Amino acid sequence: MKNDDWMPRTEDEDFASSLHQRTDELYRITNAQPDEAGLIECPVLALRDLVVFPRMISPIFIPPGPSLLAIQEAQYNDMTVIGLSQKNSEIEVPDPEDLLQIGVEIAVGRLLNMPDGNNSALIQGRRRVEVVEVVQRDPYIVVRARPIIEPVDLNPKIEALMRATRNLFEKCVQLDHSLPEEAQLFSINITEPGWLADMVATAISFPIKQRQSLLVIREPVERLKRVNGLLAQELDVLRLEDEIQTKVQTEVDRSQREFYLREQMKAIQTELGEGDVWSRELAELRLKIDNKQLPDEVLAQARKEIERLSQMQSLAPEVGIIRTYLDWILELPWNESTLDNLEVRHAEKILEHHHYGLKRAKERILEYIAVLSLNPKKHKQPILCFVGPPGTGKTSLGKSIAEALGRRFVRVSLGGVRDEAEIRGHRRTYIGALPGRVIQTMRRAEKINPLFMLDEIDKLGADFRGDPSAALLEVLDPEQNHAFSDHYLEISYNLSQVLFITTANTLNTIPSALIDRMEVIDFPGYIEEEKIEIARRFLIPRQMEESGLEKEDILIEDGALSKIIEEYTYEAGVRNLEREIGRVCRKIARKKSEKKPYQSMVTKELIEKHLGPPQFFISKAEREDESGVATAVAWTENGGEIMPVEVLIVEGKGNMQITGQIGEIMQESAQAALSYIKSRAKTLGIAVDAFEKNDIHIHIPEGAIPKDGPSAGITMATALASALTGRKVYKDVGMTGEITLRGKILPVGGIREKVLAAHRSGLKKLFLPERNLKDLVDVPRKVKTDIKIVPVVHMDDILRMALYPAFHPHKKSSKD
Ligand code: ADP
Repeated sequence: MKNDDWMPRTEDEDFASSLHQRTDELYRITNAQPDEAGLIECPVLALRDLVVFPRMISPIFIPPGPSLLAIQEAQYNDMTVIGLSQKNSEIEVPDPEDLLQIGVEIAVGRLLNMPDGNNSALIQGRRRVEVVEVVQRDPYIVVRARPIIEPVDLNPKIEALMRATRNLFEKCVQLDHSLPEEAQLFSINITEPGWLADMVATAISFPIKQRQSLLVIREPVERLKRVNGLLAQELDVLRLEDEIQTKVQTEVDRSQREFYLREQMKAIQTELGEGDVWSRELAELRLKIDNKQLPDEVLAQARKEIERLSQMQSLAPEVGIIRTYLDWILELPWNESTLDNLEVRHAEKILEHHHYGLKRAKERILEYIAVLSLNPKKHKQPILCFVGPPGTGKTSLGKSIAEALGRRFVRVSLGGVRDEAEIRGHRRTYIGALPGRVIQTMRRAEKINPLFMLDEIDKLGADFRGDPSAALLEVLDPEQNHAFSDHYLEISYNLSQVLFITTANTLNTIPSALIDRMEVIDFPGYIEEEKIEIARRFLIPRQMEESGLEKEDILIEDGALSKIIEEYTYEAGVRNLEREIGRVCRKIARKKSEKKPYQSMVTKELIEKHLGPPQFFISKAEREDESGVATAVAWTENGGEIMPVEVLIVEGKGNMQITGQIGEIMQESAQAALSYIKSRAKTLGIAVDAFEKNDIHIHIPEGAIPKDGPSAGITMATALASALTGRKVYKDVGMTGEITLRGKILPVGGIREKVLAAHRSGLKKLFLPERNLKDLVDVPRKVKTDIKIVPVVHMDDILRMALYPAFHPHKKSSKD
């Protein structure tokens, strides 16, 4: 039996031989002899955190107490003890009831005294026993128990189960390095299922409760089945552990490999003299950073980055990223500023020198500068917002303000910006990350206090990537912008000394939170006379200079300028006018350089020769008075615009159709107009069944441009009335105003732009809602005398004045 036993493993030879000695002693102890009833009577060894299986050898520690007494008594009588596991290992001195019913008869070897007062001994399980009765409780427990005999009749099923268990066990031994390899060998030689189960239960470190549950299964095959299941679970756990272990190991291997390669690279670089270059570059960077006067926080950040850099090899991929970052820090202005010239008179001179007109804007700017000069610390003035059509001088006035103050001028367009990151930048973890537009523009400014123009804030978008206007609010808010956060920079940037001016074509699309932060200054657009003045004073001299022309080379007559304005450009500003003047200058410059003869006086007649056929006709002037067509004056982002409204009546079933990219409000407004005209059918002399027998089609040409708003209401009503009555509409009459169902006329917006557009288009009479008269203060007097403005309160007034009289179908002028 001895050789079959599997013993605690040891590699210490001395200890091993002493162990053999001690096991020899163990084997000498004989099992207790059953009495007639087949019972044995033995003292009880209570096992606290231990389950001993038959045949297994194990060292144990025995504290002083009943168990020690029991062992001493047994040894004195040369007999075995019964080992019973405690149900609850917390209990120090268990009663018989605290012990499992099934245990193992145990041989206990020599007791050895331990330094800590415990005793240790080697024990060997002999056979399973079941306690039948308790014979003694004090001073130690003695029980009578029946040895459990396990039947051994193997069949192929059991053989298969054993083989499967051995297989699993073998795999566990391979994966679990704490298991001795001989354990697996040992398992091959075990021929009984119960024994095999006990052996595996001893070898694998199953939790104590599981071991106990295995011990109490009397039926050997059942026990083995159970062990088999537990083994399979154990194997899963071991495999997982192994996988993790392997992964960790590969990681370690890789970083070791990298380390090794880096060391080699270092060596190669030193060999090539490149290591020196790198450290010299680092030193230069350090010097640059120390020499640039950076705020503390920035300096700390820069040094931290340099430190990171110096830990790296010059070819490491992060190097580029960190260097770019440091470049940004080095190139951004942190403290550098220009000195403000806050002399109001000087500023006035400069503004006047570069710009014609724009009285209100100039005045407001001079006030602004005056406040600054009286209270230089007062940065918290409202942000100015220049609103007006393109080419009305917003940008160039901004430039002049910068010049007057002696500040740098920078601008950035926000048109089409939908992503917050475009304003605030991307975090450095993104590949190719950069600061946002604000910080990029500050770098261009090179100073911390430029005049910073934010163009097209009305074209700011918003989508799922975040709302850029929120970031913009932070930029413009004097309470917050001293610590503007850009995702790329990570450190806050001080924008509080920047003078921000925003520009927009319309206020309609600007979020109200933004408008609240700003003071709006209107740039309404110019009338022809103003344009001619601007052209003569500024645009022509500038274009002449660009084309290299001298004073005597060219003279553009006012008549020619008028022709360009009226027939080649159609705009509120002067941008196209300047371009056309440029074209004329270049034609002449070419002639001059080719030494061909040319006429230096550019007359109205010569314009067509230089610029080709006209691009715009003032169509209304050439149009005949017609029925079914009326002229609305509309507001657009480019200033005012005149817009014909056409109505066609065709036989049908009383349907109405509206075309020409019409918005919802305009549709409703058309319905209101129709209802009103229906209600007036009798007075207007429209046949009662005209509406049922016909279809009405309202069309507003130039379908490519979306149109909306209620202000075409009265025009649609006029065109409807005209089409249905056959009375013509005077061609030189324009109108704007909202109509109610009862024909009342309500005020509308954009009056000044509309009046200028009506004037520009050559209309002679303009119907305006009476309540809009107050908006005419800003309209140049010249316009007000050129065009007759008629305030109206009711639709009937318009019908009376805009349409031909009912029974006199002769042509008449509206001027009468
Ligand atoms: P915006 O920014 O409003 O679109 P710009 O400032 O670019 O317009 O103006 C277009 C051109 O017209 C510029 O060359 C500008 O100098 C000129 N300009 C516009 N308004 C005036 C003005 N009142 N006086 C002189 N030049 C003007």
